[in-house]
Amino acid sequence: MGEEPRRIAIIGAGPSGLFTAAALLAQGGDDLAIDIFDRLPTPFGLLRYGVAPDHASIKAVATTLARVFEAPRVRFLGLVELGRDVSAAELVAAYDAVIYAVGAADDRHLGIPGEDLPGSRSARQFVAWYSGHPDADPQPLAGVRDAVVVGVGNVAVDVARILLKDRDDLSATDMPDAVLAELRTAAVEHAWLVGRRGPEHASFTTPELRELLETPGIGVELLGCDLADIDEEALERHARANLAAIARAVDASPAEPARWLHLLFWHRPAELEGEGRVQSVTFAPTAEGGSAVTVPADLVLRSIGYRGLRLPGVPYEDGRIPNLEGRVVETDGSERPGEYAVGWIKRGPVGLIGSNKKDAAETAAHVLEDLAALPPRPLEDLDAVLAARGVRPSNLEDWRRIDLAEIDRGTIRGRERTKVEAWHDLLALVSRP
Ligand code: NAP
Repeated sequence: MGEEPRRIAIIGAGPSGLFTAAALLAQGGDDLAIDIFDRLPTPFGLLRYGVAPDHASIKAVATTLARVFEAPRVRFLGLVELGRDVSAAELVAAYDAVIYAVGAADDRHLGIPGEDLPGSRSARQFVAWYSGHPDADPQPLAGVRDAVVVGVGNVAVDVARILLKDRDDLSATDMPDAVLAELRTAAVEHAWLVGRRGPEHASFTTPELRELLETPGIGVELLGCDLADIDEEALERHARANLAAIARAVDASPAEPARWLHLLFWHRPAELEGEGRVQSVTFAPTAEGGSAVTVPADLVLRSIGYRGLRLPGVPYEDGRIPNLEGRVVETDGSERPGEYAVGWIKRGPVGLIGSNKKDAAETAAHVLEDLAALPPRPLEDLDAVLAARGVRPSNLEDWRRIDLAEIDRGTIRGRERTKVEAWHDLLALVSRP
């Protein structure tokens, strides 16, 4: 590569964006200047706002991801939002390569009657709230006794666990104080996890399922299917392990537990009912011979998958940016040189944090391959464009100040960290010139 550093913009400082920066540095060396943008003043995306607060060991990946910021030509530009503060065209004019790593910030809908009743919410919003995301809506829980979670993926498992877990066991996490206080107002006695197919098809992973099933003090009931009828020979190992975990938990259930986890399979939600707010959900059978089930519900969380949002000026199709191994293409398949996608906006909302590493390596390899084939071109100065518009990005120092404030908040409460969740508190910690 030439002597002038090639300039790369990564839009989104979550795991996929940071893994991509690391892969670019590893594969392309130090003669790259990488600007990592985020609409928040904090890096780490879903690691900070999606991974459950009681999964501290996964969150520790942040330490590894943060190493990219130690490279001399890597900058963090927070509080810059594509579409609000800067356009895709301006980014393309200012960088040799623009990589979209924005994740999947929307959720899917059921499209059934009653879905919008008060008390029916998306698991994505619920997760954002208990993770202290500054944009999260409050989630009133007072008096919630019966909670229904639609979907049987790992997000469903996370939210069911948070609802069932002893509140004292959550107080060691980094959850904001207001969240912990609100969770204490709920008195969940029954949590339902409902899958439209069988337990052998569920997308939760075995360690996450086991952790939920082993929540202290709960009883586990299996409905809608009989494990003995499932042909295990035909199943993959993880599905067999899931069935074994369920069988063990049902067998080991105390006779009169304080709280119940009901696993209902082969049922899809048909309607949410209630006067002024949700009071029950009716599930229709999806297997032959099944019958409809109506479950009382003070809270319904639909946990049926995330969905990528459309970025202004960037091709979009069915929740993703159309791409060929990370190279962005138009919806008709024609090329968009210089633009790339990585993570959930590239491949859809599936996979664990670590899945992003391989994905990032693929996109990074294509970026470097294309840069090597293209001569440098004159680039606009994006800093000047932003300054002229009055946009003042936050930087790594600002993030460090937020980080320290959270650690301080935690220390006085006897916890490792307590999240700063309000926009005004975050912005008060950002000192922009
Ligand atoms: P997911 O694994 O895709 O699960 C979505 C669930 O919703 C599936 O059970 C799906 O059933 C169901 N569903 C979809 N549409 C439905 C409908 N209309 N009616 C009823 N059910 C419907 O997605 P996720 O739970 O949001 O997780 C996203 C990714 O993040 C996953 O890869 C997950 O493993 C990962 N994650 C990991 C962790 C962890 O490691 N601890 C934690 C959270 C998330 P069908 O299968 O029948 O479509």
